[in-house]
Amino acid sequence: MAENSGIEWTDHTFNPWIGCTKVSPACDNCYAETLATGRLGRQWGPHAARRRTKTWGDPVRWNRQAEGATVRPRVFCASLADVFDNHRSILPEWRRDLWALIEATPNLDWLLLTKRPPNIVRFAPPKWIASGFPAHVCVGATVENQTEAERRIPHLLEVPARVLFLSCEPLLGPVDLTEIARPGTDLLGPAIWDSLRGCGGAPGRLNWVITGGESGGTARPSNPQWFRDLRDQCADAGVPFLFKQWGEWVSVSEVEGPGRHHTFEDGRTVRRIGKKRAGRTLDGVIHDGFPAPMEILQ
Ligand code: SF4
Repeated sequence: MAENSGIEWTDHTFNPWIGCTKVSPACDNCYAETLATGRLGRQWGPHAARRRTKTWGDPVRWNRQAEGATVRPRVFCASLADVFDNHRSILPEWRRDLWALIEATPNLDWLLLTKRPPNIVRFAPPKWIASGFPAHVCVGATVENQTEAERRIPHLLEVPARVLFLSCEPLLGPVDLTEIARPGTDLLGPAIWDSLRGCGGAPGRLNWVITGGESGGTARPSNPQWFRDLRDQCADAGVPFLFKQWGEWVSVSEVEGPGRHHTFEDGRTVRRIGKKRAGRTLDGVIHDGFPAPMEILQ
């Protein structure tokens, strides 16, 4: 069980620094901002300096504890920041220290999740870009709708990591991962990449897809069909799929009971019953897929 994380797809969460700037609709209800500006009384956003944390010893300890373990712990980096944020207050040595820490903790599977995939090549160690990321480093992008899928996935697919993954949470619109418009144009018009199979000349392919709905007081509802579409795309392509949570709103076909309703244009209806009661079954099934490479490393 997670030592310091309640997130279904990780065991630990590590924040090398805290602070970030909103970049897309998925950030609208940023949990980290609420935490930082509320309980911690700090500033947030483009004019607030990022603050280096004092928890850098934790991954070293987790790595030691994981020695000889049968299950490799996963570390989500970062929940209160974006590792590939280009804010001026992030000193180059912070990043150098982070890459060194990751290299020094090979018993952990690191999950680097970003909403800024175009910055990965710029900030990752040149040797990782040239020769491949260490095998215990997985790189992911958040994708909440098709617009962000087409903006972020092409950059993610350029990253030479063994595991490339998506966190489609909060899912705010339909996403077709089999039809990602290739960046740039040519005389024949935009080409289409199937990001789940790596077809159409894509430089890489996705190895894992996580999705879920939004939680919190101002959570936006997700159409259940958007989750089903991702589930089915992954099943067709043989890509592991993890349904993390419904969030505050759940399909009326999944959980019965009273609660405020929202009906989408296609007639599908969700009900606001709270994250805990909503659970994480999709059409009665728990989807807990994880990518094979991490299991192979065990
Ligand atoms: S990228 Fe993440 S941490 Fe940064 S503002 Fe958006 S939701 Fe918050």
